[in-house]
Amino acid sequence: MTARILVVDDIPANVKLLEARLLAEYFDVLTAEDGFKALEIVAKTPVDIILLDVMMPGMDGFEVCERLKGNPATSHIPVVMVTALDQPTDRVRGLKAGADDFLTKPVNDLQLISRVKSLVRLKTLSDELRIRAETALHIGIDDVTKLDHLDAPGQVLLVDGRASSQERIIKALKPVAEVTAMSDPQAAVFEAAENPFDLVIVNGSGDDYDPLRLCSQLRMLERTRFLPLLLVTELGEEDVIIRALDLGVNDYIVRPLDPNELVARTLTQMKRKRYNDLLRTSVRQSIELAVTDGLTGLHNRRYLDNHLKTLFNRAAARGRPLSVCITDIDRFKLVNDTYGHDVGDEVLKEFARRIRSTVRGADLACRYGGEEFVVVMPDTDADAAAAIAERLRGMIESISFELNAGAVNLKVTASLGLATNVTGIETPEQLLKQADRALYEAKGSGRNRVVAAAA
Ligand code: GH3
Ligand code: MG
Ligand code: MG
Repeated sequence: MTARILVVDDIPANVKLLEARLLAEYFDVLTAEDGFKALEIVAKTPVDIILLDVMMPGMDGFEVCERLKGNPATSHIPVVMVTALDQPTDRVRGLKAGADDFLTKPVNDLQLISRVKSLVRLKTLSDELRIRAETALHIGIDDVTKLDHLDAPGQVLLVDGRASSQERIIKALKPVAEVTAMSDPQAAVFEAAENPFDLVIVNGSGDDYDPLRLCSQLRMLERTRFLPLLLVTELGEEDVIIRALDLGVNDYIVRPLDPNELVARTLTQMKRKRYNDLLRTSVRQSIELAVTDGLTGLHNRRYLDNHLKTLFNRAAARGRPLSVCITDIDRFKLVNDTYGHDVGDEVLKEFARRIRSTVRGADLACRYGGEEFVVVMPDTDADAAAAIAERLRGMIESISFELNAGAVNLKVTASLGLATNVTGIETPEQLLKQADRALYEAKGSGRNRVVAAAA
């Protein structure tokens, strides 16, 4: 994971220190000695994360943060405020200014690196989402990565044996999350696996259980593998933290809990989870789009070519019949020439709708190209296929097509070619070819008819 980090601090020694630590982790580091310089850099260079000192002459960190968050070009860049330990009010002001997280001076190595990594992961996801949303916009499809509901209150599972600590955490998170608190770690694993949580917060100092064991269980289970984990630790438990981060725990927070810090960490993790989920959904939807015909909503040729192979081999293995029907609209060019392409498109849509309503759920209907459609019928022998094809032909011919909001009423017919996987047909390509030949024959012998390939 590499990222470009901008370190902003008016004291050169502070800059040097942070820079050295980040460079040691192979981050790319830029530095600025004041807010003006920082804004200048960000305007010219893409930056992944900004570490921002609060106390600076001229323009303080709050103002820099407000400007960054107020500018659409930079508002998505995570900002980490570096505050003094004895100034808790700074954190509140930082949050109000839009800061994503805090670090306290003197900055602890482990905190610095885990915070930065956590935010880099989050930014990688949100960048990917933004790119996809833009692409979707460009190619004119519905945005599959809509960022709706991402700021709705989240669902948090809290595993904590102490009632007083539970109460404090529930209270702090009240504005951003609904918390389910549990004391029993085993019950919590089931709870996490069965409900759609956005985050699990684990009290790291369980008196009667091993919190790291709980974390590793959650990481191993299929259903909780992607669930963010936030560990609450005591001061001085660095060894626990290191092991926890190794196990895949996403972040940690040290007691005494600062409610603002807890809220910031929680929000970051919940956002990351939602971005992740959204990306996974959008990948699934992109796959669906890639195999769907945009005009008719039927599967496209690419899908057919792949899926016919599967269906063909399965039928062969089980000794079951499989039939395909290729249908082509008669004199379709004439429709376009007479009424225009838009009306032609309407015919295709209505034609597809009639195919869909005629075939069974197990049949696969595809738009094969132009005005050609293919229906693959598993477990269907030649006789049954002929009956279905005849029904389809009748469905097209018997009810005229009402188009252009009722302005055009058109009689449409189609020709259909059939083939079945009888002996001699060894590949799905041969099967399709046979059906295509039959279709050609149907066209040649007068159209508006069904012809089956000779067995
Ligand atoms: P035949 O009875 O021999 O099948 O005659 P036909 O006119 O239907 O066949 P031909 O292959 O000559 O013409 C097919 C037409 O389908 C030509 C093409 O412009 C039109 N077409 C293909 N795809 C689309 C589409 O997506 N929308 C519209 N409106 N027309 C399309
Ligand atoms: Mg045609
Ligand atoms: Mg054609």
